Amino acid sequence: MQVSDGVHRLTQAIVNFYLIGESGKYTVVDAGTPGDWAYFVRSLAGLGAKLADVDAVLLTHAHSDHTGFAERARAEAGAQVWIHRDDEQAARTGRTGKRDGKVTSYLLRVAFYRTTVSLLRRGGGRIVPIAEVSSFGDGEQIDVPGRPRAVHAPGHTPGSAALLFEGRRVLVTGDVMGTENPLTGRIGPQIMPSGLNEDTDQALASLDALSGIDADLLLPGHGDPWTQGVAEAIRRAKAAGRS
Ligand SMILES: [Zn+2]
Repeated sequence: MQVSDGVHRLTQAIVNFYLIGESGKYTVVDAGTPGDWAYFVRSLAGLGAKLADVDAVLLTHAHSDHTGFAERARAEAGAQVWIHRDDEQAARTGRTGKRDGKVTSYLLRVAFYRTTVSLLRRGGGRIVPIAEVSSFGDGEQIDVPGRPRAVHAPGHTPGSAALLFEGRRVLVTGDVMGTENPLTGRIGPQIMPSGLNEDTDQALASLDALSGIDADLLLPGHGDPWTQGVAEAIRRAKAAGRS
């Protein structure tokens, strides 16, 4: 579960979220599904931490399998919830934009059913609205444990962002780039399938927002960590193209 010094990957299948510790305080990047709460609390305890040690929940974008238990963490742990300003409204209201591809085009894929069933079972079918949300902009360094810098890379959603923990050389890519396709099952760096994107062309173009970033470890929303560098990940994601 520890993927780098003080950085933990949490997953109960399909979707990842991450715990970043600094001086006994924690930032959670993404919040899984609502049903991942008990697992999250158990994981914290396993690290010798308490809910009160969680200062912030940083969201890479406003989709229900990433906003998950953010509202509960805000209400019960007093954590401040953050998201890029272009997804702030969706996080508050639970209403997201229209996808540019049809989910029905994945009906012949085993991965489609695995993902759908697993997420629905954990309450990941819709966003639990978040009552209070702080927002960040592109390039901003966010004043939470780990002090990540936001890299706005819209397309999957308007406010999709990667988060760079510069000192640790860790880039959390969220759904800007994954290493496993939740609807087709394809493995390797890629943007999300068009059935989940608001603007797939923009998502492909936004890969360039990651270029030049110096990171040894890429941590995606879906799939395993990537350790072969940012440039190679971008190259492969562009080659993979749409799905
Ligand atoms: Zn998403």
